[in-house]
Amino acid sequence: MQKPKPKVTPIVIPDDKLQFLKKKLDDPDLSQSVKRDFVKEIMGGECAMCQGMPTKIARYDMDGITLIEKYCDECFEKSNS
Ligand SMILES: [Zn+2]
Repeated sequence: MQKPKPKVTPIVIPDDKLQFLKKKLDDPDLSQSVKRDFVKEIMGGECAMCQGMPTKIARYDMDGITLIEKYCDECFEKSNS
C-alpha cells in the first residue's frame, strides 16, 4: 500500500542534549548498540530506515490510523524523492 504524504515535524531537542549525543556517536570506544540506546533515549526513537539519529517525525494518516515514523535527513530525502 502506498503511503500518503506525511505531515512532517522536526524533532526539537535542547542543544546541550544534542551535543552530548553527538559526542557519544563520535566515540569510537562505544559499541553500535550502546549508541543506538543513546539515540533512542535522547531522540525518543531511531530512524525507521537506517536506525541512525532521527531529525524528523513523519505522521501518515492511514484511514484514520496515524502511523508515526522517525527519519534522519538522508533517509527522509530518499523516501520522499
Ligand atoms: Zn536514516
